Amino acid sequence: MTDSPSARAAQVAHLRRAELAKGDPVALPLTMASMFHLPGDPAGYAQYGRFSNPTWDALEKLLSHLEGAPALGFPSGMAASAAVFFALLKAGDRILLPSDGYYTTRVLTERFLTRLGVTYDTRPTSTFLDGGFDGYRLVFVETPANPSLDICDISAVASAAHAAGALVVADNTTMTPYGQRPLDLGADIVVAADTKAPNGHSDVLFGHVASRDAEVMAAVSDWRKLAGGIPGPFEAWLVHRGLETLHVRFERMCDTAEAIAPRLVAHKAVRAVRFPGLADDPSHNLARVQMERFGFLIGLTLGSQEQAERFIDGCALIQPATSFGGVHTTAERRARWGDAVDPGFVRLSVGCEPTEELWAAIEDSLNRSA
Ligand SMILES: *Cc1c(COP(=O)(O)O)cnc(C)c1O
Repeated sequence: MTDSPSARAAQVAHLRRAELAKGDPVALPLTMASMFHLPGDPAGYAQYGRFSNPTWDALEKLLSHLEGAPALGFPSGMAASAAVFFALLKAGDRILLPSDGYYTTRVLTERFLTRLGVTYDTRPTSTFLDGGFDGYRLVFVETPANPSLDICDISAVASAAHAAGALVVADNTTMTPYGQRPLDLGADIVVAADTKAPNGHSDVLFGHVASRDAEVMAAVSDWRKLAGGIPGPFEAWLVHRGLETLHVRFERMCDTAEAIAPRLVAHKAVRAVRFPGLADDPSHNLARVQMERFGFLIGLTLGSQEQAERFIDGCALIQPATSFGGVHTTAERRARWGDAVDPGFVRLSVGCEPTEELWAAIEDSLNRSA
């Protein structure tokens, strides 16, 4: 079987089968446990709930299948990014972050890493290669960046950063492993918020780190065990369940986003649209090369803050909410969080609603918002 998103997706629901004994439940059991039965020599057995848990193991096996690399679960996307930073960086290291990516990554760096002696710079995702990577210990990319949807060339960044001696971390939250595999493109480490599309039902926070570098994974695993930022077994169980349907949800969401984006461009109430799938989008040519799909996030700019809010709140099939990737279509005005975007800029996360019904509701609300 060739290695493709569909080939990996086909195996997802069957990964557990090889381990099942006759009479075992087909669905993954949820193991809520801090203690394990442990007489005598503890080596080689489950010991304590901060060290390991069978429900984490099953989820990590599934994540690892999707990433093509060992994976470790964390209680949120930020816990995953923080684990990479705190496990790998030391005083004197300099790191590079995207200026237009997930805001919290920069705040964490500014508030906590700088006082441990780590310095940082930021750069826009669309020109991330400009200036090279000399002097950096770690280069962090987020592509497509949330919320700008600009992208950068992961292979080119990885080659240049490796030549300069830097590790490359990719936040792959906006694409999921079905949409893009940064490790195959040369990144050393993937971090992602499974809070978003992987869990998909907006009821859990979760994150993971994946890497083919055994030293990196050993350090990140030690950090998790010692710092104690571990996932809850129930959350791990829910993400495992969510991942079983990620492929079908992701395909529907991406298909619908592709259908809707050009109709938004054509709508008179919409001033601008950002979607990597549009032929004239600045991200399009590179997206075709490095992404499997164009994703399910669309950036659209309406005439004003008021118009954008009328559009979001007045649409029967849009849930006003921050965060994205759920089964329900959501939207929000990103300027309300201080992102450097137009006041009328709306980040639309296309959900799993049937395409034509969703478009009818969006069109209706656009018509009424003007
Ligand atoms: C949401 C998000 C995160 C953080 O995830 P949490 O689970 O909220 O901690 C990190 N990166 C990106 C790109 C995100 O969208």
